[in-house]
Amino acid sequence: MSAGTAHPPTRRALVVVDVQNDFCEGGSLAVAGGLSVAARVKELLGTDHGYDLVVATRDHHIDPGTHFSKHPDFVDSWPRHCVAGTEGAELTAPLEAGDFDAVFDKGEYAAAYSGFEGRDADGTGLGDWLRAHDVGRVDLCGIATDHCVRATALDAAEEGLSPTVLVGLTAAVAPDRVGATLDAWRTAGVAVREG
Ligand SMILES: [Zn+2]
Repeated sequence: MSAGTAHPPTRRALVVVDVQNDFCEGGSLAVAGGLSVAARVKELLGTDHGYDLVVATRDHHIDPGTHFSKHPDFVDSWPRHCVAGTEGAELTAPLEAGDFDAVFDKGEYAAAYSGFEGRDADGTGLGDWLRAHDVGRVDLCGIATDHCVRATALDAAEEGLSPTVLVGLTAAVAPDRVGATLDAWRTAGVAVREG
């Protein structure tokens, strides 16, 4: 593209972070409220929501080293979860891969909290994909507010994507840590909306 035809990206995308079976009630690293997030995101996708594109990220571990522990601290180490090829790594019903324009997997061999570390089936990273699709603004929702949604939203700000977190469509590992997450977002220029 020549400089003469360059224009700021105009499209808006919704990024649904890690709504996966292991992060919902009944999963190996269950977050209270996860199933409700899955149901309500599905409902949103069925409405005239106005997003030009809707994408999902998935935690997708093969051998992520110290990210897994038999004695997890639930801050930096965790019980086994979202192992590639298992039911626990699948998107949580009623959400399904067909709901999304693209799905980005992350964390194969190391912890990866941010969806921007994810790649689609063609190996394209989330940031490059959004740029290639002329996306200039993103909203985010998903699991967990205080970990992967937090990191993905901070990276979205870094990428210049004017992020807004739909906080009512998220679920937190540690609800008492959400205040610190809101502070970090505010400092980084991440907007927050109830949902
Ligand atoms: Zn993980």
